Amino acid sequence: MEKTARIAIIGGGPAGLSAGMYLEKKGYDNYVIYEKSDRVGGKCWSPHYKGKRYEMGAIMGVPSYYAVHDVEEFCGITHDGPKLNRNYKNSNGDVIEPFEPKKNLLKIPRLLKMKKQVKKFGEILETKYKGYDVNGHRGVAEGRCDGYAVTPGRERVQFENPNLKDLALPFKTFCEKNGCELVQDIWIGPYTSFGYGYFDEIPAAYVLKYLDFQTTMNFVNVNLWTWKEGTQYIWECLDAKLKHSAQLNSNITKIERKDGKVFITVNGKVEEFEKLIVTAPLYCGDGNRGETNGFVDYADAREDEKALFSKIDYERYTVQAVTTKPENHPEISYYVFDNMVKERLGHLMVYYRRWRSDIDQMITTYALRTHKDMKEVSYEDCNKMVLEDLKTMHNPAEEVHNAWSVYYFPHVYSEDYASGWYDKVEAMQGKYDTFYAGEIMSFGDMDETAEYSRELVERFF
Ligand SMILES: Cc1cc2nc3c(=O)[nH]c(=O)nc-3n(C[C@H](O)[C@H](O)[C@H](O)COP(=O)(O)OP(=O)(O)OC[C@H]3O[C@@H](n4cnc5c(N)ncnc54)[C@H](O)[C@@H]3O)c2cc1C
Repeated sequence: MEKTARIAIIGGGPAGLSAGMYLEKKGYDNYVIYEKSDRVGGKCWSPHYKGKRYEMGAIMGVPSYYAVHDVEEFCGITHDGPKLNRNYKNSNGDVIEPFEPKKNLLKIPRLLKMKKQVKKFGEILETKYKGYDVNGHRGVAEGRCDGYAVTPGRERVQFENPNLKDLALPFKTFCEKNGCELVQDIWIGPYTSFGYGYFDEIPAAYVLKYLDFQTTMNFVNVNLWTWKEGTQYIWECLDAKLKHSAQLNSNITKIERKDGKVFITVNGKVEEFEKLIVTAPLYCGDGNRGETNGFVDYADAREDEKALFSKIDYERYTVQAVTTKPENHPEISYYVFDNMVKERLGHLMVYYRRWRSDIDQMITTYALRTHKDMKEVSYEDCNKMVLEDLKTMHNPAEEVHNAWSVYYFPHVYSEDYASGWYDKVEAMQGKYDTFYAGEIMSFGDMDETAEYSRELVERFF
């Protein structure tokens, strides 16, 4: 491709902005980033309260966030935020220590068994499922590994491993099949409570590409990154550093792809491009579920695009930011394991106290409203349930300052995963002068999306 090619990028979140950065690094600087809202960062949203920033979206990273580290280097910033500290409560609001044998004498046999299974799980991931952790999903359904290793050098890896087909199974089934069902007790904390769905519905591939063994151990040992000015700051810095900052408040009403060109109608004006990278949602369903506008709605989506993208489902992850009276302020952040089961859909799963030194600060609460086999909990009901739960936790809210329910973690289910959904979409990359990136192509976290943009640029530009 000519380095002068005019490239449109839809979305000014981590995927879109890092696509801009990697294009620039490769010598392409004729790009435009269209962002529909009035800020960059997407689901990295860090509003201000009393001179500090709190997190309504992404909070943390781990040391293997190599693409985020690329961005930090590019911008001259670092992960300088407050150390994360957490504890556990049961659904009655009592503090518990579920992994401490001395505090759970009756559970000792289970805890010992779990410890053994975690060790075994680590071993089989490295052997039987070698290649499980590369970024993206190419070849997995066919029993191949084809991607870039999660290492600082991100070496290209390609080999056959028929066992990888098991990654299409729901994570619960995958664990049971491998005699490691108790590892779910460890994986569930940073998975379900972080809004990524339940283990009986979500393919193991998603769980393990995000929570590879090393990353899970980083969560266990609280070896995590945060940013003082919030995760949004990472993307604000990148936006400021790019040759072409995102064009905010861009309302795209039409995209037409014909004769090797892409015509985008934005804020009423038609712009011409040679290539298009879409990092915004591809499909949002019937419009009754929060987000109303996906790529298939405003673009001249072809039949193969429509057929494949209509298989995408997403989570409705609900966040509230509240203040409490000083005497009701939580001492620390808490996980509520009892509420991470689908029978407790819509309940408070985790709440986050960001600054250890302040008690006049936002506490953010997190709940999930969907499971594929259940009736969705409405946004209003969910918010009410969470406020009731905070009372049960002995940390009642005094005032709700902010809330959103966000289009979160787009994914496909096991049947579509196993029938090669990803390889079909990967085969379409570039077909209509269009490239698909963002969360659906890898996983819904900052690093996987930025890393996928890196790969996309590496492979096609
Ligand atoms: C509550 C919460 C907690 C999270 N915690 C973490 C965490 O701790 N660590 C972590 O790594 N990740 C976390 N994440 C996930 C992380 O924020 C996302 O995976 C990441 O932001 C995805 O980047 P993206 O660019 O693919 O999508 P997004 O961040 O969603 O960005 C997409 C952008 O596209 C824009 N857009 C949409 N439609 C259009 C359109 N038609 N035209 C133009 N622009 C459009 C949107 O406005 C948005 O700015 C969390 C997210 C949430 C909500």
